[in-house]
Amino acid sequence: MAAAKHAVVLGSRFGGLAVLSWLRRLYSPNQLSITVIDQWHEMIFRPGLVHAMNTAPDAMMKAVRIPLRPFWTRQRVQSLHDTIVGIDPNTREVYTASHPPIAYDVLFIATGSTPGWDLIPGLSLHHQGICEGYMARHTALRNTRQPEGHFVFATGPIDAPSQWSPTVHVGCECPLLESALLWDQQLRRMKRRDAVEITILTPAPQVAESASPKVQERVRELFRKRRIRIITHAEVQAVGEATVALPNRTIAYDRIVWTPPQKGSQWLRGSEVDDGWGWVPTTTHMQHPDWPDIYAVGDVVSHPWPKMGHTAMVQARVAVHHWAWQQKRLSKKPDPYHPQLVWVLEIGPGDALFSMSDTFFGGHREIMHRGRTSYWAKEFFQKAYVSRTGALPIMP
Ligand SMILES: Cc1cc2nc3c(=O)[nH]c(=O)nc-3n(C[C@H](O)[C@H](O)[C@H](O)COP(=O)(O)OP(=O)(O)OC[C@H]3O[C@@H](n4cnc5c(N)ncnc54)[C@H](O)[C@@H]3O)c2cc1C
Repeated sequence: MAAAKHAVVLGSRFGGLAVLSWLRRLYSPNQLSITVIDQWHEMIFRPGLVHAMNTAPDAMMKAVRIPLRPFWTRQRVQSLHDTIVGIDPNTREVYTASHPPIAYDVLFIATGSTPGWDLIPGLSLHHQGICEGYMARHTALRNTRQPEGHFVFATGPIDAPSQWSPTVHVGCECPLLESALLWDQQLRRMKRRDAVEITILTPAPQVAESASPKVQERVRELFRKRRIRIITHAEVQAVGEATVALPNRTIAYDRIVWTPPQKGSQWLRGSEVDDGWGWVPTTTHMQHPDWPDIYAVGDVVSHPWPKMGHTAMVQARVAVHHWAWQQKRLSKKPDPYHPQLVWVLEIGPGDALFSMSDTFFGGHREIMHRGRTSYWAKEFFQKAYVSRTGALPIMP
């Protein structure tokens, strides 16, 4: 009998967890041993962090924390709580900060992107945001004080090679747009809306840039009605303590919430595996074009495809089935990944805009629905994912 193979999965959030689930669905522990490496043993369900704008800090954090050890045990995988520092694709080894090199037969990279706080002069972590748990908690705490003045929600560009086609200017827009909308709602509830001016700054030529023109128009209209000003093409030159410098003007603010610029995974830069920017090139089956034993899924891939949780989960299915197809020499090749935006924009309690669109990527699909059903679908997904991780990383 052939010796069991060893899969190594780097990263344990949307992408990595879905890879683990699919591998275990297709291979028993006797057929495949699996090691997962992540620097955290708790996953933060990041889509839920936008509730820093309308929920008390402790309640918000309780709803997004997922302990990973029970999931790893259920999946019968070995977990390493460590920092990944490099790969040698020639010897097929992964290097970490405190364990000996880990050999792999197949490697799945799902380490996401790195926040580019250093990409804009003056910008730093203390400018606040909601993209990680500790930041969202702090923002939620500050929101409980009497808000007034000018509140700015800003995002920076995605740091990507010019060959990406179609061109994208920002990564995931969910945190930027949802947090502004939820803050608007919260201010109305607190009867403070008239005391606060809200502005969004984005380097993209329009909001919801990878959605269809119809969705973009709907989103613009929504923000107009809410009196939230959107400044597009906002290429921030410098960030100060009370001002943001754009090429032709300065925006003064009283408070700011940043969705930082997105960079490729820091630890991958300069390896033989990345594209030179920290992103991993892949085929449409998520396989590395030069290293067939390496797959990448989720935010880390070198494509302008949506950097979103849904994308990571779908790509995990594609990657694992492609590897299994090669291993088992099956006749029917699995379908490749078809890029599309699947997005539920939370607008306020009981209200959300669902859109599914591939027109940005050259397709014709365009579905849009606003209302309670979209809202409850997103709520249900979060509750089910957080309470039952392990059942849900499987995604069609
Ligand atoms: C506030 C917010 C709201 C969002 N809302 C939505 C939404 O509504 N819908 C949606 O679809 N998407 C949303 N997203 C985007 C979504 O969260 C990401 O696209 C998704 O998390 C990407 O998953 P991933 O597994 O590829 O990478 P990540 O989630 O970034 O996970 C990478 C993992 O790798 C680990 N890792 C990285 N480097 C190392 C290292 N060197 N050593 C060890 N471990 C390492 C990290 O600890 C992490 O656990 C939102 C994002 C944010 C920030």
